[in-house]
Amino acid sequence: MSHTYVIGFPSIGEKRELKFALENYWSGNTDFSSVEKIASELKARHWRYQKEAGIDFISINDFSLYDNMLDTAVMLGAVPERFRGLENEALYFAMARGNDQAVAMEMTKWFNTNYHYIVPELSTSDSYVLNAQKIVTEYKEAKEQGITPKINLIGPITFLGLSKRTDRGDTYELFGKILPLYEQLIKEIAMLDAHVTVQIDEPIFVKDIEPKVLSLIKPCYDALCLAAPNVNIIVSTYFEHAVEAAKVLVHTPVWGIGLDFLCGQENMQVLDLIAKSGKRLIAGVVDGRNIWKNDIKATLLLLEQIAQKIDKEKVILSTSSSLLHTPFTLKYEEKMDKEIKNWLSYAVEKLDELSLLSRCFFNKTLSDTEQNAFDANIAANTSRKTSVRIHDQAVRSRVNSITKTERSGAYEERIALQHAELGYKPLATTTIGSFPQTPQIRQARRQFKNGDIDEAAYTAQMKAYINECVSFQEACGLEVLVHGEPERNDMVEYFAELLKGYGFSENGWVQSYGSRCVKPPFIFGDISRPKPMTVEWSTYAQSLTEKPMKGMLTGPVTILNWSFVRDDLPRSEVSRQIALAICDEVDDLQKAGIKVIQVDEAAFKEGYPLRSENIPEYEAWAVRDFKLAVSSAEKNTQIHTHMCYSEFNDIIRTIEEMDADVISIETARSGNELLKIFAKIGYKQEVGPGVYDIHSPRIPSVEEIVEQIYKLLEVLPKEQLWINPDCGLKTRKWKEVKQSLENMVKAVRIVRKELA
Ligand code: GLN
Ligand code: ZN
Repeated sequence: MSHTYVIGFPSIGEKRELKFALENYWSGNTDFSSVEKIASELKARHWRYQKEAGIDFISINDFSLYDNMLDTAVMLGAVPERFRGLENEALYFAMARGNDQAVAMEMTKWFNTNYHYIVPELSTSDSYVLNAQKIVTEYKEAKEQGITPKINLIGPITFLGLSKRTDRGDTYELFGKILPLYEQLIKEIAMLDAHVTVQIDEPIFVKDIEPKVLSLIKPCYDALCLAAPNVNIIVSTYFEHAVEAAKVLVHTPVWGIGLDFLCGQENMQVLDLIAKSGKRLIAGVVDGRNIWKNDIKATLLLLEQIAQKIDKEKVILSTSSSLLHTPFTLKYEEKMDKEIKNWLSYAVEKLDELSLLSRCFFNKTLSDTEQNAFDANIAANTSRKTSVRIHDQAVRSRVNSITKTERSGAYEERIALQHAELGYKPLATTTIGSFPQTPQIRQARRQFKNGDIDEAAYTAQMKAYINECVSFQEACGLEVLVHGEPERNDMVEYFAELLKGYGFSENGWVQSYGSRCVKPPFIFGDISRPKPMTVEWSTYAQSLTEKPMKGMLTGPVTILNWSFVRDDLPRSEVSRQIALAICDEVDDLQKAGIKVIQVDEAAFKEGYPLRSENIPEYEAWAVRDFKLAVSSAEKNTQIHTHMCYSEFNDIIRTIEEMDADVISIETARSGNELLKIFAKIGYKQEVGPGVYDIHSPRIPSVEEIVEQIYKLLEVLPKEQLWINPDCGLKTRKWKEVKQSLENMVKAVRIVRKELA
């Protein structure tokens, strides 16, 4: 019997081998055959790891040189017109990354993860042709390695749901065009072996599901199952419950249904139906999105609950999602504290957890080695439940006795005091915080971290940068200044390193997109702030100028969303602990004479739940914790926030409730269209809508910015507007930044004069 199942495995490699192979090839140092060679080695190694761990369902086609959605588009021949004429790898990488003639395809976040996929571009006038070569080849490769794999596909409904149409029409109208290609694909797959298992991923089923989409499920899966009798189809869902879809799938001939029991408790509701249908349940019980060791005892209890409804022999134990979202292996975490490391489990370790769970659940009697692994698991989980490194009584009591939950004073009262204090004019100019990260400051940070330079030398270099940054801003004529953030490599990691309760990995890379990986810090314990984190830098910068120096912090929700978060406390509790730490920092800044403080919530929108039923709860605690984080601010301390989006239509009331005195946003690329919602709802606070796009090296002209300011003035009065770039400047070059900001200030002067 086959009992263990992995939805998908990371491609990038335990030492990011794929990343380096790709980047070498892209920069022209190697040819494509070296990428192919590494890819084959990685696939073989990843299959071997899974096989050695005793995994029964091992995938092919989870591996990708760039992205699985892009692979699917290529498989269906969905190539946008601008790339036609190209072939093979030239075509593939041009679609992913653009080339001299054609811009890359758009990339966007995969559900609520930090992975980004390529958005397929479809058109009703195009004709699509199947090319299953990648799948056929990989199937054979796996067979040669002694593996009979399952084949992973992105389902047609999810593929369409996540694509866009060049004419902006409804992508589901192409269902009739795409489904036959999938039928043909199933037929081709059927010829690969006597029996083949196919996993069709339909994560779109976990979002709010429209009746129109729901109505496609039965025809789709009836047809695909009918296409070949020797193919067992499993429909796999993850990240949330898929109750509505599961209720339909039980009436189709699919062989199995994959449900996530970690992020979708509601899935318990459909167990009876699945039992009645006789289908296999692929039960996602090992977390594919987090780094904590499975609590085997708790998972076995959950599985017993499932087994009360479904015959054990029909249950297959699985990861809750692809392991793509976790780091690769703990093997290379050599510097990590032993106690903390013992609480963790990355992709490779999760394979053993699945195996052990399966032995416990199905066999009951364990071998000595298995018994030892089981005991070790219990010991690790007990240590995590009781360790003083995790449980900080002082933090808990403080959280339980919060009395001041928001700032004093209504906005009108506050803003009047702030104007009196700061005396800025309408269309006040500022920037979002960071200035260019030069090779020198990166090097200084690295040297300091490695102990190659001492603190005095490091501080001197940072201060030299701040001097330069402040004197440029003064010379340029900006009105509210920043220190430039030279001491930060990343807006979350910087704070994580200064907060207690955070851990860091050496090799915990997770693919973000293409060859790009991130190494998020992880929150293992109660969060507190041992000492001020930014006060010295901000006060030093303030000492250089008479103009207001803006303090720069990252907000609790963004810190949370860009970290791995402990799973033994609700996220909202963790967020509240972070908020208290930020709240202390705000207070220390204002006591040190900083009058303007920006609390960035770049990832506020990213944290939104996949199902609208869960949105009110998220918004409630996200707003609560932003307000808590700034609750120490006096009425005359001005609180700014910055968000990296432009689309506020759905969340404008929530933004309003956050009650920041000034918000800066990313509307530079959308004219004044997306700003209108602020006027429409009568938003009172001040807004800095971003007058030029910092994501491109292009320098905006004075005229262009003048025009942009007038567009903004059509929507909001000058008293309510700030003028700033649309995001931080850290990725740009000094030369571009200087000219752009000089043009921005000139533009403001022109407009002010014309209005006077
Ligand atoms: N203050 C940060 C910066 O300027 C904000 C960055 C962001 O929102 N992504 O870099
Ligand atoms: Zn931004």
